Amino acid sequence: MACIFCRIVAGEAPATVIYKDDLVTVIRDLRPQAPLHVLVIPNEHIPSAADVDESHGALLGHMLVAARRVATQEGVAASGYRLVFNVGRGAGQSVDHLHLHVLGGRRLSWPPG
Ligand code: AMP
Repeated sequence: MACIFCRIVAGEAPATVIYKDDLVTVIRDLRPQAPLHVLVIPNEHIPSAADVDESHGALLGHMLVAARRVATQEGVAASGYRLVFNVGRGAGQSVDHLHLHVLGGRRLSWPPG
């Protein structure tokens, strides 16, 4: 299995897992860009947000609920947090397995770089 996030979901590669259920795995990012930086990863391999269709509606909703859950658990719900999908190389996507970044714990500027 070549995909690093598939290997993490399968327990075959190391990661700090802070939440897991039948549909998603939430891990701490290896190179955090904020005091809280976690990734909500679907357990199923979907290459990118450009590959989702109507059949993924329940999964995407579940990813948002998982993001809200960890934001609350990690103490950034009140101060605010950012949810990001990078889609394609030009937007900064470096891992070709769908993931939702959850960033918080510091002031986040807009527009993003
Ligand atoms: P993106 O650049 O949007 O594709 O996001 C990929 C993210 O995955 C980056 O923030 C990386 O730091 C992170 N990342 C890559 N490999 C690992 C890993 N093995 N464990 C945890 N985070 C990782």
